[in-house]
Amino acid sequence: MSLLDHLSAKLSAIAAQSLTRTLRRADDGTAPRQNINGRPLLMFCSNDYLGLAAEPAIAEALAEGARTWGGGSGASPLVSGHSAAHEAVTDMLARWYAPHIPQARTIGFCTGYMANLAVVTTLGDEHTEIFSEQLNHASLIDAARLAKAKVTRFPHADLTALRAALTASTARVKLIVTDAVFSMDGDLAPLPALLALADEFDAWLVVDDAHGFGVLGERGRGTLEHFGLHSERLILVGTLGKAAGLAGAFVAAHATIVEYLLQSARNFIFSTASPPAIEHALLTSFALIEGPLGTARRANLVARQTQLRDGLLALIDQHPRLGWQLTDSSTPIQPLIVGGNAEVMALAAALEAAGLRVPGIRPPTVAAGTARLRITLCGTHTATDVDALLTALERAAATQEQAA
Ligand code: PMP
Repeated sequence: MSLLDHLSAKLSAIAAQSLTRTLRRADDGTAPRQNINGRPLLMFCSNDYLGLAAEPAIAEALAEGARTWGGGSGASPLVSGHSAAHEAVTDMLARWYAPHIPQARTIGFCTGYMANLAVVTTLGDEHTEIFSEQLNHASLIDAARLAKAKVTRFPHADLTALRAALTASTARVKLIVTDAVFSMDGDLAPLPALLALADEFDAWLVVDDAHGFGVLGERGRGTLEHFGLHSERLILVGTLGKAAGLAGAFVAAHATIVEYLLQSARNFIFSTASPPAIEHALLTSFALIEGPLGTARRANLVARQTQLRDGLLALIDQHPRLGWQLTDSSTPIQPLIVGGNAEVMALAAALEAAGLRVPGIRPPTVAAGTARLRITLCGTHTATDVDALLTALERAAATQEQAA
């Protein structure tokens, strides 16, 4: 069979399960309002949780950074790609996490995927056992597959199962790996309890705070600040393409861990450093996150979350036959679990026809039978925006109920 025939058969199988993905082209605008494939849409799908990507101060800082530093960094960090702008970012983040991680130091990466890959593959050597949360992000799952460590998965938020696995382990080094905010459910990992287990079993806790950074905690420093955690066992991954409104990622951990990543993480050593202009603009982003604008956007997010959840619960009450459900989320990720793949895509299409973009999420991203609308809120959504979504969902629910 030729490769093309082989792939065509696989593509047909994907289509037969209603799992084909399509690219949408944004013509202009920034979340939550963009022209997509030529149509203006109100979006509930961006991870730009504070709306910073659209802030004029960020665009200005990027331009200023480009005037100072030009375009790309030109080399990997250890060759010549590491600039004063990169260092200012990692220094600032080390200060942010000093109250949470003794002797905190940070190291930068171009994406969160890369940061997760670096931490888990570099620390997960043959002497290590990785205890991986069932609902972890794909990048952590891929990283665990690549690591030389033994990998044990534990069921979602199941501390009893994790305790049993830790008790049974004979590994020299134990690494518990978890998302802080689960990206498709929006719920929070029980980090204080996980840290207590890490203490008890002499394990280390890798926390992927992709969806908590900027959003949670009084000053937006994420889940460590939200829970008030403090331990040298914490290894934090933060991403900067979501609430920070730019791009990139960092690992904050005890200085020895960070030094080891710098010496050994292959995707740090052998990959071009991020453009310095982005790093320069990140300093503006951090100031916005911890300043009055960040505080106001976080307060608006909480108000819109309550409005949305109240509206969705009323909708579910009115249409019990549809079997829709919410998750236990107190974050801007507010999924509406619909069930079937075809149903969720029909719902997403009905919303899009009404001028709203909310993506349907299907297996394998989520478990079979739990296809969902992944509604994400942005700090710049208004009460009117959320009302528009609820009204369109109400109409779509009535239509689906009639068809059922
Ligand atoms: N971790 C989680 C939980 C994520 O949701 C994502 C991105 N969707 C990543 C890591 C990867 O981050 P990045 O997009 O910066 O590669």
